[in-house]
Amino acid sequence: MDQRMREAVRYLGYGKNAVDDQTLRLIAESFERLRSVAGRKSVYRIFDLEQPDAETVRFGSLTVKSRNLGKNLRGCDKIVLFGATLGIGVDQLLSRTSKTDMALTVVLQACAAALLEEYCDACQEEIRAELKAEGRYLRPRFSPGYGDFPMECQKELTQMLDCARRIGLTVTESLMMVPSKSVTAVIGAGTLPVHCHVQGCEACEKTDCIYRRDTL
Ligand code: SF4
Repeated sequence: MDQRMREAVRYLGYGKNAVDDQTLRLIAESFERLRSVAGRKSVYRIFDLEQPDAETVRFGSLTVKSRNLGKNLRGCDKIVLFGATLGIGVDQLLSRTSKTDMALTVVLQACAAALLEEYCDACQEEIRAELKAEGRYLRPRFSPGYGDFPMECQKELTQMLDCARRIGLTVTESLMMVPSKSVTAVIGAGTLPVHCHVQGCEACEKTDCIYRRDTL
Protein backbone atom coordinates (compact mmCIF):
# COMPACT_ATOMS: atom_id res chain seq x y z
CA MET A 1 0.00 0.00 0.00
CA ASP A 2 1.55 3.34 -0.99
CA GLN A 3 1.54 6.52 1.14
CA ARG A 4 -1.49 7.95 -0.67
CA MET A 5 -3.53 4.76 -0.04
CA ARG A 6 -2.43 4.72 3.61
CA GLU A 7 -3.58 8.32 4.05
CA ALA A 8 -6.98 7.57 2.47
CA VAL A 9 -7.36 4.57 4.81
CA ARG A 10 -6.49 6.81 7.76
CA TYR A 11 -9.07 9.44 6.70
CA LEU A 12 -11.64 6.64 6.51
CA GLY A 13 -10.97 5.98 10.19
CA TYR A 14 -9.62 2.44 9.94
CA GLY A 15 -6.74 3.14 12.31
CA LYS A 16 -4.71 -0.04 12.66
CA ASN A 17 -7.63 -2.28 11.66
CA ALA A 18 -7.31 -4.32 8.48
CA VAL A 19 -9.00 -2.88 5.42
CA ASP A 20 -11.24 -5.21 3.43
CA ASP A 21 -10.68 -5.84 -0.29
CA GLN A 22 -13.91 -4.11 -1.30
CA THR A 23 -12.80 -0.86 0.39
CA LEU A 24 -9.34 -1.12 -1.19
CA ARG A 25 -11.02 -1.49 -4.60
CA LEU A 26 -13.19 1.58 -3.90
CA ILE A 27 -10.09 3.56 -2.88
CA ALA A 28 -8.27 2.61 -6.09
CA GLU A 29 -11.37 3.48 -8.15
CA SER A 30 -11.73 6.81 -6.32
CA PHE A 31 -8.15 7.87 -7.02
CA GLU A 32 -8.65 6.96 -10.65
CA ARG A 33 -11.82 9.09 -10.86
CA LEU A 34 -10.18 11.99 -9.05
CA ARG A 35 -7.19 11.87 -11.38
CA SER A 36 -9.30 13.01 -14.32
CA VAL A 37 -11.12 15.86 -12.51
CA ALA A 38 -8.62 17.29 -9.99
CA GLY A 39 -7.17 20.60 -11.19
CA ARG A 40 -4.38 21.24 -8.71
CA LYS A 41 -3.39 24.87 -8.21
CA SER A 42 -1.37 26.62 -5.54
CA VAL A 43 0.04 30.00 -4.65
CA TYR A 44 2.42 31.35 -2.03
CA ARG A 45 3.96 34.61 -0.88
CA ILE A 46 6.74 35.29 1.58
CA PHE A 47 6.48 38.05 4.18
CA ASP A 48 8.74 39.37 6.93
CA LEU A 49 7.61 38.05 10.30
CA GLU A 50 7.50 39.91 13.61
CA GLN A 51 6.67 38.37 16.98
CA PRO A 52 6.41 41.22 19.51
CA ASP A 53 5.43 38.73 22.24
CA ALA A 54 4.80 35.00 22.67
CA GLU A 55 1.17 35.22 21.56
CA THR A 56 1.38 37.78 18.78
CA VAL A 57 2.36 37.10 15.18
CA ARG A 58 2.56 39.96 12.68
CA PHE A 59 3.11 39.86 8.91
CA GLY A 60 1.95 42.12 6.08
CA SER A 61 -1.19 43.90 7.26
CA LEU A 62 -2.22 41.06 9.58
CA THR A 63 -1.76 40.69 13.33
CA VAL A 64 -2.74 37.28 14.72
CA LYS A 65 -3.16 36.41 18.39
CA SER A 66 -2.31 32.73 18.82
CA ARG A 67 -0.13 31.09 21.46
CA ASN A 68 0.10 27.84 19.46
CA LEU A 69 1.20 29.59 16.28
CA GLY A 70 3.59 31.86 18.21
CA LYS A 71 5.29 28.80 19.70
CA ASN A 72 5.61 27.06 16.33
CA LEU A 73 7.08 30.16 14.63
CA ARG A 74 9.54 31.08 17.40
CA GLY A 75 12.94 31.96 15.93
CA CYS A 76 11.57 32.51 12.39
CA ASP A 77 12.08 35.81 10.56
CA LYS A 78 9.98 35.02 7.49
CA ILE A 79 6.58 33.50 6.97
CA VAL A 80 5.23 31.79 3.86
CA LEU A 81 1.51 32.24 3.17
CA PHE A 82 0.25 29.25 1.22
CA GLY A 83 -2.99 28.36 -0.55
CA ALA A 84 -3.84 25.26 -2.57
CA THR A 85 -6.90 23.68 -4.13
CA LEU A 86 -7.95 20.57 -6.05
CA GLY A 87 -10.45 22.71 -7.97
CA ILE A 88 -14.20 22.72 -8.49
CA GLY A 89 -14.18 19.52 -10.61
CA VAL A 90 -13.72 17.46 -7.43
CA ASP A 91 -16.79 19.09 -5.81
CA GLN A 92 -18.82 18.39 -8.95
CA LEU A 93 -17.75 14.73 -8.91
CA LEU A 94 -18.66 14.45 -5.19
CA SER A 95 -22.03 16.06 -5.81
CA ARG A 96 -22.85 13.76 -8.76
CA THR A 97 -21.73 10.63 -6.93
CA SER A 98 -23.66 11.48 -3.74
CA LYS A 99 -26.94 11.19 -5.67
CA THR A 100 -26.33 7.54 -6.56
CA ASP A 101 -23.64 5.98 -4.36
CA MET A 102 -23.05 7.15 -0.78
CA ALA A 103 -20.42 4.49 -0.02
CA LEU A 104 -18.30 5.62 -2.96
CA THR A 105 -18.85 9.28 -1.98
CA VAL A 106 -17.42 8.66 1.50
CA VAL A 107 -14.35 6.99 -0.01
CA LEU A 108 -13.99 9.76 -2.61
CA GLN A 109 -14.03 12.35 0.20
CA ALA A 110 -11.21 10.53 2.00
CA CYS A 111 -9.18 10.09 -1.19
CA ALA A 112 -9.60 13.76 -2.12
CA ALA A 113 -8.35 14.77 1.33
CA ALA A 114 -5.34 12.46 0.90
CA LEU A 115 -4.68 13.85 -2.58
CA LEU A 116 -4.79 17.41 -1.26
CA GLU A 117 -2.32 16.60 1.53
CA GLU A 118 -0.01 14.93 -0.97
CA TYR A 119 -0.18 17.96 -3.26
CA CYS A 120 0.47 20.39 -0.37
CA ASP A 121 3.48 18.32 0.72
CA ALA A 122 4.87 18.42 -2.83
CA CYS A 123 4.38 22.21 -3.02
CA GLN A 124 6.03 22.60 0.35
CA GLU A 125 9.06 20.64 -0.84
CA GLU A 126 9.48 23.15 -3.68
CA ILE A 127 9.21 26.07 -1.27
CA ARG A 128 11.67 24.33 1.05
CA ALA A 129 14.22 23.98 -1.75
CA GLU A 130 13.84 27.65 -2.71
CA LEU A 131 14.32 28.91 0.84
CA LYS A 132 17.15 26.48 1.56
CA ALA A 133 19.11 28.25 -1.17
CA GLU A 134 19.02 31.38 0.99
CA GLY A 135 19.88 29.47 4.16
CA ARG A 136 16.40 29.19 5.65
CA TYR A 137 14.58 26.17 7.05
CA LEU A 138 10.84 25.60 7.03
CA ARG A 139 8.58 24.78 9.93
CA PRO A 140 5.44 22.67 9.30
CA ARG A 141 2.26 24.03 7.71
CA PHE A 142 -0.08 25.64 10.20
CA SER A 143 -3.67 26.26 9.06
CA PRO A 144 -6.31 28.59 10.53
CA GLY A 145 -8.57 26.59 12.84
CA TYR A 146 -5.67 24.53 14.16
CA GLY A 147 -5.19 25.10 17.89
CA ASP A 148 -5.99 28.73 18.73
CA PHE A 149 -5.08 30.08 15.26
CA PRO A 150 -8.43 31.76 14.45
CA MET A 151 -10.42 30.22 11.60
CA GLU A 152 -11.38 33.79 10.54
CA CYS A 153 -7.79 34.31 9.35
CA GLN A 154 -8.61 32.18 6.30
CA LYS A 155 -10.24 35.26 4.82
CA GLU A 156 -7.21 37.50 5.25
CA LEU A 157 -4.84 34.80 3.99
CA THR A 158 -6.86 34.28 0.81
CA GLN A 159 -6.99 38.05 0.26
CA MET A 160 -3.26 38.52 0.84
CA LEU A 161 -2.58 35.69 -1.62
CA ASP A 162 -5.16 36.96 -4.13
CA CYS A 163 -6.47 33.39 -4.17
CA ALA A 164 -9.73 34.19 -5.99
CA ARG A 165 -7.92 35.49 -9.05
CA ARG A 166 -4.85 33.28 -8.96
CA ILE A 167 -6.22 29.84 -8.07
CA GLY A 168 -10.02 30.30 -7.99
CA LEU A 169 -10.28 29.82 -4.21
CA THR A 170 -12.72 31.87 -2.10
CA VAL A 171 -13.95 31.76 1.50
CA THR A 172 -17.65 32.29 2.24
CA GLU A 173 -19.10 34.41 5.07
CA SER A 174 -19.51 31.20 7.09
CA LEU A 175 -15.81 30.40 6.47
CA MET A 176 -16.42 27.53 4.06
CA MET A 177 -13.81 27.19 1.35
CA VAL A 178 -14.93 27.02 -2.27
CA PRO A 179 -13.78 24.67 -3.80
CA SER A 180 -14.15 22.56 -0.66
CA LYS A 181 -10.93 20.57 -1.14
CA SER A 182 -8.66 23.52 -0.49
CA VAL A 183 -6.13 24.60 2.11
CA THR A 184 -4.75 27.85 3.45
CA ALA A 185 -1.78 27.80 5.78
CA VAL A 186 1.26 29.65 7.00
CA ILE A 187 4.75 28.16 7.17
CA GLY A 188 7.50 29.66 9.29
CA ALA A 189 10.98 30.09 7.85
CA GLY A 190 14.17 30.97 9.66
CA THR A 191 17.91 30.44 9.75
CA LEU A 192 17.79 28.09 12.75
CA PRO A 193 18.55 24.61 11.37
CA VAL A 194 15.30 22.92 12.42
CA HIS A 195 14.76 19.89 10.20
CA CYS A 196 10.99 19.43 10.11
CA HIS A 197 9.09 16.45 8.81
CA VAL A 198 7.22 17.41 5.62
CA GLN A 199 4.06 15.77 6.99
CA GLY A 200 4.20 17.91 10.11
CA CYS A 201 4.69 17.40 13.82
CA GLU A 202 2.28 14.45 14.08
CA ALA A 203 4.60 12.46 11.82
CA CYS A 204 7.78 13.80 13.44
CA GLU A 205 9.75 11.76 15.98
CA LYS A 206 11.08 14.82 17.83
CA THR A 207 8.53 14.68 20.63
CA ASP A 208 10.49 17.09 22.85
CA CYS A 209 10.85 19.78 20.12
CA ILE A 210 10.24 23.27 21.55
CA TYR A 211 8.54 24.40 18.31
CA ARG A 212 6.18 21.42 18.18
CA ARG A 213 2.80 22.35 16.70
CA ASP A 214 0.22 21.67 19.37
CA THR A 215 -3.42 22.48 20.00
CA LEU A 216 -3.40 23.09 23.77
S1 SF4 B 1 8.19 18.49 16.07
FE1 SF4 B 1 9.33 18.06 14.16
S2 SF4 B 1 8.01 18.88 12.51
FE2 SF4 B 1 7.30 19.78 14.44
S3 SF4 B 1 8.36 21.76 14.62
FE3 SF4 B 1 9.60 20.24 15.72
S4 SF4 B 1 11.11 19.46 14.22
FE4 SF4 B 1 9.46 20.51 13.08
